[in-house]
Amino acid sequence: MQFHDLEAQYQALKAEIDAGMAEVVRGGRFILGPQVALLEERLSKDVGRAYCVTCGNGTDALVLALMMWGIGPGDAVFAPDFTYFASAGCASTVGAELVPVDIDLATFNMSPDALESAIARVEAEGRFKPRVVIAVDLFGQPACYTRIEAIAKAHGMLVLEDAAQGYGGAVGSRNACSFGDAAITSFFPAKPLGCYGDGGAVFVDGARQDALLRSLRANGRGETDKYDNQRIGMNSRLDTLQAAVLLPKLDALRRYELKALNQAAQKYTQALAGYVQTPSVPAGYTSSWAQYSILLENRARRDGAQRYLKERGIPSMVYYPRGIHQQTAYAGKHFPDEWYPNTIEACARILALPMHPYLMDADISGVTEALKDY
Ligand SMILES: *Cc1c(COP(=O)(O)O)cnc(C)c1O
Repeated sequence: MQFHDLEAQYQALKAEIDAGMAEVVRGGRFILGPQVALLEERLSKDVGRAYCVTCGNGTDALVLALMMWGIGPGDAVFAPDFTYFASAGCASTVGAELVPVDIDLATFNMSPDALESAIARVEAEGRFKPRVVIAVDLFGQPACYTRIEAIAKAHGMLVLEDAAQGYGGAVGSRNACSFGDAAITSFFPAKPLGCYGDGGAVFVDGARQDALLRSLRANGRGETDKYDNQRIGMNSRLDTLQAAVLLPKLDALRRYELKALNQAAQKYTQALAGYVQTPSVPAGYTSSWAQYSILLENRARRDGAQRYLKERGIPSMVYYPRGIHQQTAYAGKHFPDEWYPNTIEACARILALPMHPYLMDADISGVTEALKDY
């Protein structure tokens, strides 16, 4: 059994992916070829945001968004404590002050209450100006944007949606990558919309922001004279080959993969209810199930379950074994454990089960029966 089955997906889409890649090789426009422009247009329509600018990976997408807003030294950037490092590290990359925020144990996403106390703390200290909230759609489920956007607005802050794991999610009829003042996603192979290497994108509302991002991703090049570099940016572009892979994958995600993912999640939840804490999706929310993560009673039970599954040939993963506040890179910061009780609990108790759109019913029952036996 595979944790993420990229081979099954390739077999399903082989004809289109192979033809698309061969066309790129024949066309010879490997950097910013026509497939990249077509993908950007499809992605912006798909999520319902005016502009999409692709780039080299999700980490760069986060940094580009912060550069676009001129975030840097003296600014405070708030990000959830329980996430992939890049969601938080991007703040430090641009020289801003990172403030990790505790999560909600029911959704694993940033807790709006914890965000309010973290902002109050920074304001009381007065050393840094609260500027940006990075909300992560962890494991495919959108964060609580109604409250997070209201809190940010009350403090004059911007919201950046990190939908690296969230492409395909929704709240009501609003799609992931349409929340906040800008959004990003990642096309790392194992994400809900993945390519065959690295890739990412930034989504914005305005033509000015779109032009700024296009300049920033090409070393700050001028809009008319490309050898007049007007600002400091980076080199971060999506390969044309990756765009050719993503075009049929985007179509498959919308046609049937999201439905298959949600059916698989429902089967897990039905079979496991009463045995472990299953993921809770609030009313009106749709997850794209980048991960299906359960909570066991405590660390010993979680580690035991992972071993028990492994002995039966079932892969599982711990996302994430430690909080951002516990990362060695931030060892010099004052981030006491008491501020992050829910992150600490999630790190000890969480376990992600095999999840992808090509899971068979027999795979799901194999996992759930093994867990129940345990
Ligand atoms: C994967 C991920 C990123 C970074 O994406 P890359 O393409 O790997 O650089 C950022 N944020 C979150 C939440 C992620 O899961």
